[in-house]
Amino acid sequence: MSERDETNMQEGAAASGANSVDETAPSAERAEEKNISFADLGLDEKILRALTEAGYESPSSIQAECIPALLKGRDVLGIAQTGTGKTAAFALPILQRIDLNQKTAQALVLTPTRELAIQVAEAFALYARRLPGFHVLPIYGGQSYGIQLKQLARGAQVIVGTPGRVMDHLERERLSLADLRVLVLDEADEMLRMGFIDDVQWILEHTPAERQTALFSATMPDAIRRVAQNYLLNPEEVKIRTATQTVAATRQSYWQISGLHKLDALTRILEAESELDAAIVFVRTKLATEELAQKLEARGYSAAALNGDMNQQARERAVEQLKSGKLDIVIATDVAARGIDVPRISHVINYDIPYDAEAYVHRIGRTGRAGRTGAAILFVSPREMRMLRTIERATRQPIERLVLPSHQEVTDRRIALFKEKVSKTLAGEDLDFFDALIGEMTAEQEVAPERLAAALAFLAQQERPLRLEEQAFGKQPRFEQSGERGNRSRGERPERGERPRRERPPRPEFAGEVNEDDRGNAVVMARYRIEVGRAHGVTPRDIVGAIANEGNLPSRLIGRIDLFEEYSLVDLPNDLSQDILQTLRSAWVRRRQLNLAREDGGAPQRREGFPPRSHAPREGREGRSPSNTFGAPRPYRPSPPGERSFRRREPR
Ligand code: AMP
Repeated sequence: MSERDETNMQEGAAASGANSVDETAPSAERAEEKNISFADLGLDEKILRALTEAGYESPSSIQAECIPALLKGRDVLGIAQTGTGKTAAFALPILQRIDLNQKTAQALVLTPTRELAIQVAEAFALYARRLPGFHVLPIYGGQSYGIQLKQLARGAQVIVGTPGRVMDHLERERLSLADLRVLVLDEADEMLRMGFIDDVQWILEHTPAERQTALFSATMPDAIRRVAQNYLLNPEEVKIRTATQTVAATRQSYWQISGLHKLDALTRILEAESELDAAIVFVRTKLATEELAQKLEARGYSAAALNGDMNQQARERAVEQLKSGKLDIVIATDVAARGIDVPRISHVINYDIPYDAEAYVHRIGRTGRAGRTGAAILFVSPREMRMLRTIERATRQPIERLVLPSHQEVTDRRIALFKEKVSKTLAGEDLDFFDALIGEMTAEQEVAPERLAAALAFLAQQERPLRLEEQAFGKQPRFEQSGERGNRSRGERPERGERPRRERPPRPEFAGEVNEDDRGNAVVMARYRIEVGRAHGVTPRDIVGAIANEGNLPSRLIGRIDLFEEYSLVDLPNDLSQDILQTLRSAWVRRRQLNLAREDGGAPQRREGFPPRSHAPREGREGRSPSNTFGAPRPYRPSPPGERSFRRREPR
């Protein structure tokens, strides 16, 4: 989030006054601490049951604020990012307000990406599991029209879609919004950033005026505020609190989830952290406490769940066992862990990100007690990086990026522990009986004592091998080698106290442009050709949408786009994986398959049997190459934030 956005966001919240959650309000006002339950929010029995079954214990702050307002029919302007629980904040009231006997679209949720559309649709399905006759339909660019048309014909009360495809269906009258009651704009600032805001406004113009509207955005840039002013009626403005708090003497770090399952990352950390005494692992749901406890137990840890479903006695027993050392790890929800004071807790692992900065501060307050220093580790998905920054701002402390211990480090640690155990045994046990046995065995087997010791060591480590194979942990995530504290958007200034970035890696020898990935690493770009062009009515926005959604590529890795009559050229990373290439080959835009291929006919990426392409753009009706520097090396130049639209402009 840029500083400007942040300022706007705060000004906006302050200006509306309405029901915004006060930045400086005492912490006792948080939903979880007020002991607000989902039932208190006015939700129906069937929805409450689904929430219990999903293991949700209590509403997050954004849910406690939004749900009653939306149930009352108010418009809502929610300033919230991923991780705050905003999906349930709008989905639950929608489910309560739709007519299940009617199969027409009554709620529409617009999301910037296909991935989010699917996620939101899945959340609806989860919360609606006790509502027979409910249907939700995700629609997004890249998916075949045939399937979508069939599903649209079948009918769904809730449509979750990306703006381009929704607009497309509306234009072709495959989707009617005549019965629409609620419209949600989810991640509105992302839709703006991806260039969808015109489509969003077009859709808004084509919905019934008396609809209820909710707009959620992590930031409040001017364009989004204008949309809110023009299309929301006296909205209740809700934002999560970021009151600044000091945190105890705790070493804080985060691991960005990538390439490895959270469980594998957790066990790696548990194993390699040399100062680990006891740990509390925070998750969001009651179910997750139990599942994770079981999985850790199965991996040989003494772990137990701690959640609000357990009676007081069982909870106290778990805490006592943790204190006395019978248990080393407790997996807890925020509510259940409230007030735990166990000095031996050396580590707090935020396995699921907390809903807000205050919850984070409460969680990490479980360590660093009685004058000891503790460690707090936060698992963050790329989509949750904003929340990480909110936490850093609120605690006024940088959270260091954690590089997971390598399998070699884990191996070294296992060997060290093994040696320690052997030393202790040598020093403290009566081994006469075993001495005699070994003497007997060396004579019988005619082997050297060292060889025999090796066989015994092998047997001793069979359950947990000393020497780790790479695959035991999965591949080392691609970006974890550098330890770089990246992932800031361009144009954002580093916060005070942040470490300077490391040197950029040397630029590889390649005659392509170099862009930056989310972490500021150089990414060499190459030209790709797609078989959809101006003649098919395609716009650069369609192309970005399809590639970003289908290939799951951050939009900063989609470079210059040049449109020709029958085809287009687009700059994408040189080393796209085979998976992404395959997906992008078969993706659809404007009813045409992209058939993406390297413009230079690059061998590894070329499709079997695909005709080789000329090395320069074909002389089409345009009669010239749109880029006169194409193919020549360009100096590296980070783009300022506004440049994306320039690079995507069509050649004149
Ligand atoms: P969101 O911020 O909507 O993307 O939600 C992030 C995650 O939090 C999702 O996995 C939800 O299932 C989970 N979640 C949302 N609300 C709750 C809640 N009240 N209790 C437990 N988990 C929740």
